[in-house]
Amino acid sequence: MKCPRCESDKIKKIADAPVGNAWEIHVCEKCWYSWRSTESPVVIDKFKLDDEKIAKMGVIPPIPPLKK
Ligand SMILES: [Zn+2]
Repeated sequence: MKCPRCESDKIKKIADAPVGNAWEIHVCEKCWYSWRSTESPVVIDKFKLDDEKIAKMGVIPPIPPLKK
């Protein structure tokens, strides 16, 4: 199994359906994309990630302190 967004094969299962093995949820350990086994996720090229894009990603800006 490969990540639909970054093609990594480091995928782990993080959850099972509570009843009847109806589905599993998998997550990519590289870009944290996650999906349910009953979906067939397709990521269009524009939103695909590779090592270069991941390295250039910005940090989420911190939330400024509340004004008093
Ligand atoms: Zn990924």
